[in-house]
Amino acid sequence: MIGRNGIWTKICAALAVAIAALIVSAGLLAALAAGNIELDSEAARKVAQAINAARTKAKLTVLRTHPLLQNRAEFGAAATAKAFLSNPTNPSTPKELKDRNFARVVPGSAEIVLQIGGWGSVEQMSRELAESEFARLKALTHLAVGVCRSTSGMGQPVWVAVVIGVRTVPELDPERINQGQRDFYQRCHLCGYQYLGRLAKPGSKNMGGLVALCPKCKRRFDVFGIDEDGRYHRPPWFMRGFKPRAMKDPISAWLFVLTHCRYVLDSKQYGRAEVWQLAEQTYRKRMGDCEDTAILLADWLNASGFWARVVLGRVRRGGHAWVVISQKGQSYILETTGRGGKHRRMPPRAEVLTDYFPYVQFNRTGVWFRTSNKWTGDYRSDKEWARGPWPAPSCKKRCKRR
Ligand SMILES: [Zn+2]
Repeated sequence: MIGRNGIWTKICAALAVAIAALIVSAGLLAALAAGNIELDSEAARKVAQAINAARTKAKLTVLRTHPLLQNRAEFGAAATAKAFLSNPTNPSTPKELKDRNFARVVPGSAEIVLQIGGWGSVEQMSRELAESEFARLKALTHLAVGVCRSTSGMGQPVWVAVVIGVRTVPELDPERINQGQRDFYQRCHLCGYQYLGRLAKPGSKNMGGLVALCPKCKRRFDVFGIDEDGRYHRPPWFMRGFKPRAMKDPISAWLFVLTHCRYVLDSKQYGRAEVWQLAEQTYRKRMGDCEDTAILLADWLNASGFWARVVLGRVRRGGHAWVVISQKGQSYILETTGRGGKHRRMPPRAEVLTDYFPYVQFNRTGVWFRTSNKWTGDYRSDKEWARGPWPAPSCKKRCKRR
């Protein structure tokens, strides 16, 4: 970030959920007679078993079940049988199988494959489905089989099956990005909306911090910083409780950071668009850009017992980072770079500094996001700020990393 250009890596192009439907043997379906349609879970179990046995033989992963997907397959089988009963020559696709937003059924579904058909015996149905191309799709992770038993016009039993295979992608997580994963699903913790996304250009020199913006409620709901090795972390990872010396008062620590740390763009220092330094690194090097000096000051303030947070936001048109400190019910902005010019003598009260537009706050224990996209000078209100749902990073894990 934030430097001069405010570089953030974007989460681009939503992944489309692809649905492919294959009708295996519609002939028998058209011959369904009016009659009972009964769910046959024993037959469904046999089909699932046969598919997974074929996968094991082909050295593919065994597909997991999912109760909600199973529900969808069973409704789908019954609805397919009904659709063929009411209009054998031109059955409509049941709405149970049309809903494209399977991401809501199984979180993170990126691809969905359907097989629909009718058979004269359970054995034949199991065999044909296990031998089908579907059973050998490598990327699949989950499977649901719904089978209904009905009767053909000739009085013979007919089994109608709906088989759903799904490929899920994991939830957006910094560790997974570091492992090279690019496809994710995201869930906005502010409004609950779920969607699939793909990360743009991993490993590029232009990669910056990462902020997730909800396509539905248009609010920011997740944020990752990027360390000197190009690895992503949620912001508390960068706060280690660094205390270079005993602090007399917050103002002296603020003035120390202001006067001792030179403002240097990451592109100059690292040849990369963005690097977040640990407080200790910034202190040792005596230089950094806005979030580096803000992290140093806030970490030091926190370690000395003060309520303080790093704030990411915008000043006029540029991305920026600063520190907010709160004492006796009053919040003040501590500008840690020369950009603050006039704010370098006395810290201004947060509610009067209208050109500082905050998006995200963090400290060692958590990250807070704006509940609306309007300006606020209130950095402490639960009405204005919602905490991200992730647990505070454990000290054990962080201390090991140092
Ligand atoms: Zn949202």
